[in-house]
Amino acid sequence: MDRLKNKVALISGGARGQGAAEARLFVSEGARVIIGDIRDDLCHATANDIDAAAGRKAAFAVHLDVTRAADWRAAVAACQREFGGLDILVNNAGIFNMSGLEDTSEELWDSIVNINQKGVWLGMKECVAAMRLRGGGSIINISSVAGLTGSTGSTAYHGTKGAVRLLTKAAAVQYGPEGIRVNSVHPGIINTEMEDIIPAAMRAGIKTVVPLRREGTAEDVAKLVLFLASDDSSYCTGAEFIVDGGLTAM
Ligand code: NAD
Repeated sequence: MDRLKNKVALISGGARGQGAAEARLFVSEGARVIIGDIRDDLCHATANDIDAAAGRKAAFAVHLDVTRAADWRAAVAACQREFGGLDILVNNAGIFNMSGLEDTSEELWDSIVNINQKGVWLGMKECVAAMRLRGGGSIINISSVAGLTGSTGSTAYHGTKGAVRLLTKAAAVQYGPEGIRVNSVHPGIINTEMEDIIPAAMRAGIKTVVPLRREGTAEDVAKLVLFLASDDSSYCTGAEFIVDGGLTAM
């Protein structure tokens, strides 16, 4: 119940999907959360739902486009103003596309790199000073199994998610001495609206080969992210954590 007592978390892309599930779970473990997203109405609705379920003011919604430094600064300021500081950052916002190498336009490449890769770097850059004031913190960067293995499509997505894996290790080495831990999470096929991009037949086919024979849920991922956010993972940094039902074990 109290694994995140007195902790404040900032979760990007928290309006829905995995980010919203993490916000709910964090609050149920005693945290207060700031959720940031470009989907403003949904973000406010999610924060209100979390407050109602918790019976206390535990969630606050901010407009956050992860590609914009000014938005990150405003989100960190909101953490300090509303809840007194910042201990945990979940760099969760991301977009997915299945285009292969030659089918990827420059515009598509830039938008995926900006959100999935630049957004993660900017988030860490703008949050470490606030964590330093608390004497440490935990950063969880949401990559993907697409950051560990290749496939015939999703070229830009693979490139960005692979970059997140090593951005994570570089930051972990730099900030370890200050007590700021940085880890990456690599989900497999997770049943959120993002996966609607994958044709239904292909999704059904993937399910039949996943060793655990099902898609993951946002809650499956949230439980791992909770472990990394909490002091239970106090000696884990610079590491990659897979939650994929065994997909990459094959
Ligand atoms: P989702 O589409 O439900 O949620 C993504 C959220 O990010 C949305 O609320 C969206 O509005 C937000 N977002 C998009 N662009 C943004 C921006 N510029 N600034 C701020 N927010 C922005 O998908 P999800 O499954 O919850 O994805 C969460 C993370 O998990 C992503 O990084 C994704 O790449 C990763 N992931 C997902 C899967 C999967 O199968 N669903 C698998 C591996 C990794």
